[in-house]
Amino acid sequence: MNKGLEVARGKTKVLYEKPGEPDTLVVTALDNITAGDGARRDELPGKGRIAAKTTARVFRLLNLCGLPTHYLSGGEDDDDNEMLVRRANMIPIEVVVRGVAAGSLVKRKPGIAKGAILVPRMVEFFLKDDANHDPLIEIDDIVHRGLATPQELGMMSEIARITFEILAHAWRSRETLLVDLKIEFGRLSGGEGRGNLVIADVIDNDSWRVWPQGREELMLDKQMYRDLETVTPDDLARVHANYETVADLVGSFPALRSGMVAYVADGAQSVALLDPVIAQTNVFGLQSLRRVVSTHLVPAYVLQAVQQLDATFARLVYVASGPHLAAMLSAATPTPVFDATEFDASELALVVAKTLAMDDTVMFGRVLLVQANARSAVLGADAQINAPGPPVGLA
Ligand code: 5GP
Repeated sequence: MNKGLEVARGKTKVLYEKPGEPDTLVVTALDNITAGDGARRDELPGKGRIAAKTTARVFRLLNLCGLPTHYLSGGEDDDDNEMLVRRANMIPIEVVVRGVAAGSLVKRKPGIAKGAILVPRMVEFFLKDDANHDPLIEIDDIVHRGLATPQELGMMSEIARITFEILAHAWRSRETLLVDLKIEFGRLSGGEGRGNLVIADVIDNDSWRVWPQGREELMLDKQMYRDLETVTPDDLARVHANYETVADLVGSFPALRSGMVAYVADGAQSVALLDPVIAQTNVFGLQSLRRVVSTHLVPAYVLQAVQQLDATFARLVYVASGPHLAAMLSAATPTPVFDATEFDASELALVVAKTLAMDDTVMFGRVLLVQANARSAVLGADAQINAPGPPVGLA
């Protein structure tokens, strides 16, 4: 790709302006690995390509879930260590989410044992300041320095927590524990949604701690490099192999495993009854199909339809138009069956999405986001209801 003007250079990446598109940047990851705020630095040929792949795959997963990120495309092909992102003004804060106690937390708080599960997850902010070793910073101080507003910090915490849960889900299904995670935010500098907060920078194997089988000694992330006393070529080869393993594992993170929702109406008169649920399940991007059967006119056909659907789809959920049909389907199939009359439409869509989210991280992330939006809608409505009205004469 024809890269334009260099706009920024970090320890492990270079950013260029895309020619003719000032709101789009090209990010190229370098073959450097650093630790101790740049005090230790090594060249690791191929690391840039691997880091770009990891970041692109993580961001693509987050985009599929509906989280706001700066990622547009690229970075994944072997020969193309170039990621296209929306330009953003970076907020100089590292947001760390911890699900398991480790690292600087256990140094700072000796009362918390390394490996302790942290619920609720802990969110901490660190000021980006290499010279002072990225110190921990309190929310009031961030606001006082004008780095972010309280509203932005609330959103950053919520988005960071959801990001952690999505990645923890993906890692869990690969028998690996996500211990902690660092992300950074920016405000879009132009185009649609200008000023909006997005997850920016990179999320790669330098940004988290991951312990296969929950065992620290099997760690695959950058901590292994940080912990080295001296760095030998053999050590670097092991670090390189770990980074490659992680990029491969992350390769399957952004896959939406196509689940199918079968809406089954008991008689043609029940078809319309399912429409509101179908509209709500579309929010999750679920695939669906509709069938009409009749429990009392053609009962054998109900069983035939079920057998046919069960044999066709590996990941399937039934939604029946009423209790009689739901009971018949439940007895006939090992697949989950829900009775549409037992739930309101949005509640049922959520239950269906949750069922399919168990082994689908994209669906899991969409569920988390829908729940977070529902919570913030309630809080927003509560804030509005007692808000003073507009001044007389301006209504
Ligand atoms: P800790 O505060 O325990 O050292 O780090 C918490 C998490 O944030 C770890 O996953 C660590 O990898 C990540 N982290 C902390 N500081 C940095 C940093 O300067 N750069 C990167 N890439 N990750 C960091």
